[in-house]
Amino acid sequence: MSNTPISNDDDALFIEEDVEDTLLAHHVPRTWKIAIVDDDEDVHRATEFALLDVKILNRKLEFIHTYSKAETREVFSKESDIAVILLDVVMETEQAGLELVGYIRDELKWRDSRIILRTGQPGYAPEEDAIRDYDINDYKTKNELTRKKLLTALTAAIRSYDQIRTIDASRRGLHQIITSSGSFSVEDGIQRFASGVITQIAALCGVPSEGLICAQGDRPDALGHTLTFSVIASAGQFSNLMNCPIDEIGNELIRESLRQTLTRRESIFNKDNMTLFFSGQGNRPAAAFVELPCALNDIDQQLLGVFCANLGVCLDNLGLVNQLKNHAYRDQLLMLPNRLKFIEQIDHAIKNATEKQLVVLIDIDDFAGINDVLGHHYGDLLLQSVANRLTEKLGGDIYLARISGDVFGLLGSEKALQPDNIRRLFTTTFVIAETDHTVSMSMGIVALTGYSESGADVLKDASIALKRSKGHQRGSHTMFTREMGIEIHERALLMQQLHLAFDAERLFLVYQPQVDLNTRHVIGFEALLRWRTDAGELVPPSDFIPLAEHSGLIVSLGAWVLRTACHTMVMLQEAGIAPQRMGVNVSVIQFRQPDFIATVEAALKDSGLHPHHLELEITESVTMVGAEMFENSLAKFKELGVQIAIDDFGTGFSSLSYLDKLPVDRLKIDIAFVRQIDTPEGPRIAELITQLGKKLGLQLIAEGIETEHHWKVLRDMGCHEGQGFFIAKPMVEADIASWVKDWNAK
Ligand code: C2E
Ligand code: MG
Ligand code: MG
Repeated sequence: MSNTPISNDDDALFIEEDVEDTLLAHHVPRTWKIAIVDDDEDVHRATEFALLDVKILNRKLEFIHTYSKAETREVFSKESDIAVILLDVVMETEQAGLELVGYIRDELKWRDSRIILRTGQPGYAPEEDAIRDYDINDYKTKNELTRKKLLTALTAAIRSYDQIRTIDASRRGLHQIITSSGSFSVEDGIQRFASGVITQIAALCGVPSEGLICAQGDRPDALGHTLTFSVIASAGQFSNLMNCPIDEIGNELIRESLRQTLTRRESIFNKDNMTLFFSGQGNRPAAAFVELPCALNDIDQQLLGVFCANLGVCLDNLGLVNQLKNHAYRDQLLMLPNRLKFIEQIDHAIKNATEKQLVVLIDIDDFAGINDVLGHHYGDLLLQSVANRLTEKLGGDIYLARISGDVFGLLGSEKALQPDNIRRLFTTTFVIAETDHTVSMSMGIVALTGYSESGADVLKDASIALKRSKGHQRGSHTMFTREMGIEIHERALLMQQLHLAFDAERLFLVYQPQVDLNTRHVIGFEALLRWRTDAGELVPPSDFIPLAEHSGLIVSLGAWVLRTACHTMVMLQEAGIAPQRMGVNVSVIQFRQPDFIATVEAALKDSGLHPHHLELEITESVTMVGAEMFENSLAKFKELGVQIAIDDFGTGFSSLSYLDKLPVDRLKIDIAFVRQIDTPEGPRIAELITQLGKKLGLQLIAEGIETEHHWKVLRDMGCHEGQGFFIAKPMVEADIASWVKDWNAK
């Protein structure tokens, strides 16, 4: 070949031939490819002449001619599906033929092609080893190649080739069918099964693996649950029809054949094609269209019938399995992927994502309230419209799932999931039952970059971030940080240690004096809980009290505090230090216990303390116990003679008018307002609280007095009592007597 531009034309010609080949492939009857490898031109001509117009097993022969080992290697490297190779043993070298056999079997890995060795010299036979090792069909001398002998040898070889192919294809088909029933992935279970069926049918009928299967769709469409027939498997020339709905199949013959088969519920056999019907017990029929080179005989048709019936049952089972999987992976209300599927998807993203991906959890604020007030059906509709909006506006770039009740999960690129953009989707109201509904939501976000944890861990982290958002400010979003995770972990550890500490009596009380700001007299103490760890560190109560409340430990812990404080008070009285009261902090959880009053009574009785000397400090959160119960309990304490102080007053007591009705004795001005005295804000709020207390006939005490100035300002505004570091830091019981002595001496 020259290096002139003409070579381009050669290329063009080559391509055209190629295209023509594929176009013709379906019209030209299929052939058996026979390779004649021989350095003698005469042998080529004689062989071809001998086999002129011969048909074996219904097919014509197609010849491929090569003349040397080298040429054969080159031609074969671009060939496939050669049924029989008539191979000259001696060509350019004595071993050329056998070497080619090695090339065919070992390098090309053509195991199916049959090889007939030929030699010109009678008596020259290759070693038996070679014949056995290389799976050589036959060995003939060239003069044996009469038309009759050649035909017999070739027919046997082709039949053998065909059988090997069929068995191989069946094996592959069966394998696919078997593995597909066990396949775990919802998406391709049925499809793999179906393409196994095509391979199997093709093998059974001795046709190329081509055809398509149509079945009832498994996935509901976007709007609901309408199921349509579409192509679930296709092979060969039909590959491009995959997923195509039956009505959109362009080829009328195929479309109508499938339709008829599915309505008549029976297989249809024609001369050039057949459409098989698979039916099981259930109502998930399927049909397969396969082209045939010639009509099938009755026996073949009956065999196929049995095959189809069996497959129908399989298909049924597969359908059931899929339905189960569908339930396992899909939220049945919104038909969205569920938590499990979302976790899988995150796992996938962690492994495969190329750009920065985010996981966003969206929680509808006060959804429980909406459900309670407007009913569950309304709640469901709201969830549906939220889901619809997220799908519509965020589009196919993101993965949407319903994680639980009112929590949605989004997975997608950082760009697609900008928190502000998501929030903007909620600025327009949602129309439910013809009424506008404003929805606000909180978000928890995790960036997947650098994540090696599992999808489940990511979801956990996103929940932590979401909880933060909801705790801090509804309608906000929080990005998960490592610290949050550590914090949670540390909290769990702390909780464990707290339980141990309580058991090991590593918790103790300290007492902070309370004095009359006018007379300086010690009027009481506040009992404050302390925890010293084994390492000697003090854990602040603001860290461990919430933990104890969370775990319920606060109930027994609180009871212990009450008993201990009452005992201390009695001891102080017996020692001649006679303060009027002992303040004990009580948490909302304790208050909620039905036997809380009994616990208090028992502490008083056991210690012998007069109820009048005990003051319970409660915070506004106690009022959340429920107004009625709260009032009843307070009334009982009043009856007993126990005093009640509202702690941290002003930091969020929600209903001032409510305060009016409560039988409390004292307001504790929060430390924050005492601190304010030193700021431009000044003592304004402290004064307001004082005036309010006076109007309500309540006593006032200020906490956190750190300077003489605080003391004076508070005293002058009419707050008569106080506690704080300026007076004394909380102290252990053993130090109280000497402190009181010192204080009184000043
Ligand atoms: P609280 O009841 O408001 O207690 C007052 C807190 O202010 C105490 O902190 C006390 O040590 C601190 N304090 C007093 N004077 C000053 C001062 O002049 N300057 C400063 N900076 N702080 C001062 P503590 O002991 O850390 O207690 C914190 C909170 O833990 C308490 O707030 C109370 O709500 C809770 N708590 C403590 N002990 C118990 C308990 O036995 N049971 C329950 N349920 N809660 C407790
Ligand atoms: Mg207190
Ligand atoms: Mg306080």
